Amino acid sequence: TWGSAIRPRRVLLPSPRSFCAGVERAIHIVERVLEQQGAPVYVRKQIVHNVHVVRRLEALGAVFVEELDEVPDGATVVFSAHGVAPAVRTDASVRGLSVVDATCPLVAKVHSEARRFADRGDTVLFIGHAGHEETEGTIGERPDSTLLVEDLDAARGIEVPDPARVSYLVQTTLAVDEVAEIVDVLHERFESLQAPGSDDICYATTNRQHALRSVADEADLVLVVGSQNSSNSNRLVELADRMGTPAHLIDDAGDIDLAWLTDAGTIAITAGASAPMSLVEETVEAIRGLGPVDLLEREVTTEDIQFTLPKEVRQP
Ligand code: SF4
Repeated sequence: TWGSAIRPRRVLLPSPRSFCAGVERAIHIVERVLEQQGAPVYVRKQIVHNVHVVRRLEALGAVFVEELDEVPDGATVVFSAHGVAPAVRTDASVRGLSVVDATCPLVAKVHSEARRFADRGDTVLFIGHAGHEETEGTIGERPDSTLLVEDLDAARGIEVPDPARVSYLVQTTLAVDEVAEIVDVLHERFESLQAPGSDDICYATTNRQHALRSVADEADLVLVVGSQNSSNSNRLVELADRMGTPAHLIDDAGDIDLAWLTDAGTIAITAGASAPMSLVEETVEAIRGLGPVDLLEREVTTEDIQFTLPKEVRQP
């Protein structure tokens, strides 16, 4: 419109956004195994929840499977960043498969707490989403001692064998504020409730939520780059919604509906931890194609976390 020609549209880029250290490591692991062994390399489940990442690795020779029975005997299989239940590890070892584990170290930390808490006699309440791979993997550590708590209602209603021996754990990619409410309810119900040693919601999830929170009020529209099955990306959309700013999850610029932009003088664009930085750049370029843009980077915090690669793929 003429209006937007006179006054440039503002695009706010909250930072941090996009890839986290666990996702970078997981992708790197698949690339290394491909270099070392050549294609095909089998990966159980999507390595990270992003269609663009999965397609790119498929083009390089990665083969994504749902379960180990699709992996040929003697082959190498990579476990995804979301982690696996011990039963899957046992299955791989019985099958004689070589495993390279791309489980994020911060997911692995929650697994080890699940074992520790259950083994000291606690009922472990796992706050997470049913059906997510991370939930299945973590609960799979001690399935007989772990109960899933999906939301506030579940927290209010859950019954445990011994209310004096209860601890909780959290899926790494949930909403910080929602989990705080759930934990408050659990504390009220179970006086001696034990918390994890440090926050289970990971630094990347927390930082992306804080960064978006700092700009969502100013924006007329929030675009979150991420795939439909990406937990932390969906939590960003919901956070903006709760703040009263319309928000949409897009896999890439092609998903933008021009009708969203009609009255959007200020657009915030962020990306979940599994979405490549380049997709944000392409989204900005697509909006630039519609008229002049003032691009404003809003850095809330910086991240310098890096995880080492597993020994199987470390350079000699
Ligand atoms: Fe690890 Fe957090 Fe990234 Fe998940 S979002 S891979 S837990 S750093």
